[in-house]
Amino acid sequence: MVCVGGGLPADHAMADGSTAPAPVSVQTMTAGYTHDIDKCVAEIHKLHTAGADVVRVAVPEKKDTEALKEILAQTSVPIVADVHFHFKRALEAVEAGVHKIRLNPGNINDRAQVEDVISACRDAGIPIRVGVNEGSIIERKDKQARAKELGAFFSEQKHGYMLAIMIAKLEEYLDIFYDNDFFDIAISAKSMDATMVIDAYTEISRRFPHPLHLGVTHAGPKETGCIRSIAALGTLLANGIGDTVRISYANDPVYEVEDGLELLYSLGLRERKGAELIACPTCGRIQVDLFTLVQDVNNKLEDAIRVPMKVAVMGCVVNGPGEAEGADVAVFAGDRKGIIYVQGERVATVGEEEILDRLLEECLAFQVKIESGEARLGEKKVDIVPPDPEGELGSGWEKMAAERISGKTDLTIGRTS
Ligand code: SF4
Repeated sequence: MVCVGGGLPADHAMADGSTAPAPVSVQTMTAGYTHDIDKCVAEIHKLHTAGADVVRVAVPEKKDTEALKEILAQTSVPIVADVHFHFKRALEAVEAGVHKIRLNPGNINDRAQVEDVISACRDAGIPIRVGVNEGSIIERKDKQARAKELGAFFSEQKHGYMLAIMIAKLEEYLDIFYDNDFFDIAISAKSMDATMVIDAYTEISRRFPHPLHLGVTHAGPKETGCIRSIAALGTLLANGIGDTVRISYANDPVYEVEDGLELLYSLGLRERKGAELIACPTCGRIQVDLFTLVQDVNNKLEDAIRVPMKVAVMGCVVNGPGEAEGADVAVFAGDRKGIIYVQGERVATVGEEEILDRLLEECLAFQVKIESGEARLGEKKVDIVPPDPEGELGSGWEKMAAERISGKTDLTIGRTS
């Protein structure tokens, strides 16, 4: 069951009748126009295939909500309508059959209008996310009195004043929902500042009993935006805060989904689909073109492996076996060769040019064994005994040094030219 993010934190029914927390969901948002139905459907399919559990679409105009019915008919992932400024877009989106509405208290704050949306969502049985963004709450007209009061309370905190306004805005807005006996609510409180995001969600998780949708907003380009998002969301998730996540930055949202999933896998909050690649960072002992090999292995495994096996690609036989501890399938490179192990058993020694194909072959064979029940993941049968680096594989260093002198080897990557 996917947590669309509404109501009280959802639990999963387990086989033994007990319950476990619902897995954290990955959300993203389409980048194209919603009213361009074919392109929007294609983008939603792409994001769903990449692993998105929930996809949000912008509905700034009536032509966008008019497109929703057809979009919903052609897609199977839960769709959230992102509504700003015009409460009627929310009513139209609910009518079209979306799975959730996002409202911004900063620009839809007329009580009667909010109550109309609540009533429509109640009838449709769908949740509402109340999304306060740092940028949109600053305009709040009556902020002074309550903010001053809360500002004193939060004065010890770095973001005390902003936090005070956010909490006040949320309290005031949620009162409309509570007065209408509507509790199918999720909350988000995004900022472009990672430390503000950590402080805001930490405080909100203490004060409100609703699922939290985590995100850093306007995080910038992928390179820095990803790190900013992971810094904030990883901290919160590691402390048990958050039910849905969106990594967001200025790039193709497919990357947002991939990064969101990797974050959840890394924290053990989702079961990994496909192989987990372990690779050494390389050092002065490297004797093959490991960077290229790792990339090639990663590409091949992505397409071919369905089970969460651990695959290690290590640059040498000196430290590699220790560093690859726990891998199901591993290759350790030596002097232009690779030795391949499956759950601790040495199965092959091949030349550098054959490593990729043979490793994939062993991974596929191991996958068959896992799926047939003949083998189990993470079950090492024997300890890996590294070969003598001076022996059959050799350090190769003297040979490479000789090649460098003769101009045949670029030692920055250890490849023969
Ligand atoms: S496995 Fe070998 S080459 Fe790779 S980082 Fe460790 S010691 Fe260096």
